Amino acid sequence: MKRREPNPGINRRDAMKLISTGSAAGLLGMYGDPLTRSENSTTPSYATGVPAIKIKSVKAIATAPEGSNLVIVKVETTEPGLYGLGCATFTQRAVPVISAIDSYLNDFCSGKDVDNIEDMWQSAYVSSYWRNGPVLNNALSGLDMALWDIKGKRANMPVYQLLGGKCRIAVDCYAHASGPTPEAVVESVQKFIAQGFRHVRIQQGGYGGVGTMEKPPDFKQAGFGRESDMYMDQRTYLKRVPMMFDAVRKRCGEDIELLHDIHERVDPMDAINLIKSLEQYRPYFIEDPFSPENMKWFRQLRTTTSVPIAMGELFNNINEFRDYMVEQLFDYIRIHISQIGGITPAMKVARLGEWFNVKTAWHGPGDVSPVGHAANGHIDLAAWNFGIQESHIWNEKAQAVFPGCQTYKNGYMYINEGPGLGVDINEKEAAKYPIGTKSNWTLRKGDGTIIRP
Ligand code: MG
Repeated sequence: MKRREPNPGINRRDAMKLISTGSAAGLLGMYGDPLTRSENSTTPSYATGVPAIKIKSVKAIATAPEGSNLVIVKVETTEPGLYGLGCATFTQRAVPVISAIDSYLNDFCSGKDVDNIEDMWQSAYVSSYWRNGPVLNNALSGLDMALWDIKGKRANMPVYQLLGGKCRIAVDCYAHASGPTPEAVVESVQKFIAQGFRHVRIQQGGYGGVGTMEKPPDFKQAGFGRESDMYMDQRTYLKRVPMMFDAVRKRCGEDIELLHDIHERVDPMDAINLIKSLEQYRPYFIEDPFSPENMKWFRQLRTTTSVPIAMGELFNNINEFRDYMVEQLFDYIRIHISQIGGITPAMKVARLGEWFNVKTAWHGPGDVSPVGHAANGHIDLAAWNFGIQESHIWNEKAQAVFPGCQTYKNGYMYINEGPGLGVDINEKEAAKYPIGTKSNWTLRKGDGTIIRP
């Protein structure tokens, strides 16, 4: 359908008179019937609008080029060659997400207009009646991002332009330094400083130091749990973290910004005391001090220490963290964007944070697909209250599956500036790397008690 052109023969007062007297037919007569009006070659392209396009199909594509399960949604349209891609990656439970996409979203979306993203999000969100879970939210995210991708392609613009345009030249990132000893962590940090990174997250022996525990756990000797279950000694971890910070600060200087992820693995009061002890090393932020089951401890943390806090990769829904953002109980919001339903809700979270000095630090490891990283990047460029972005450098296999992956230079992430999200998928390459079903987080104390997460 073509957009109507203004009629130079009618002024505003005449038009208002016709509307107030209910003469819609008279107005139509003056403007001409948009369905039958002849083409005017002088009409500027922006005034002609875009033709209506419908969703033809919605399907899941699963692939694991680096070992982690990645799920992509492909939305095909009635316009030949026009499709959109979105990230629906819930690595640990990829199969139910695929089922939600292929069995439910395809039927729900087919035949609907591609343009009405907000309406599609709202209607799909409640279409199952019960909602807010990670499976359905990830499926919804795949649809949502794919519709933004399509809208960008139709507008011939990168998605960040549709979100308001750039606030910055590129996306500042942090890298991941790790090693079995403080000395190894120092060397890893120095390597990233040499590459131009200004921010580095430091972890000794993986989250909670699980890779470097010296004492064998009693639960394994007793044959409790599975042999593959991970083990963490919380006291050892709590003693080691300040020593690691001390070594890195002494050897790497004051200019590098240091981050650390507690990953919710210690008791709340232990987390508070640990963070307090790290003040002298001036952390950029400490991540995920408490599990989502322990949110009320943030109030005590805030009155105890001024170390900046990042929180939230396990959040599923704004209602879990809205009040904590508004109360300014953490400084960085760290959601996994596909986990809350895609770009549409993530932009709302970012805008909410602007009013309460909560910056964004979206989750961005190897279990967010390149399409998801692109979505992170488009929001990072457009949101004024962007804080920092977690980086992930893809291997050659992943880059072959996903042409248009993000790139890094001097500590900045650069997204492909093509129309839409800028990332494509090679389905033949993707099929070479089937997903697995053995992705479990099982972590225990020495006596076998399960640690969250
Ligand atoms: Mg984390």
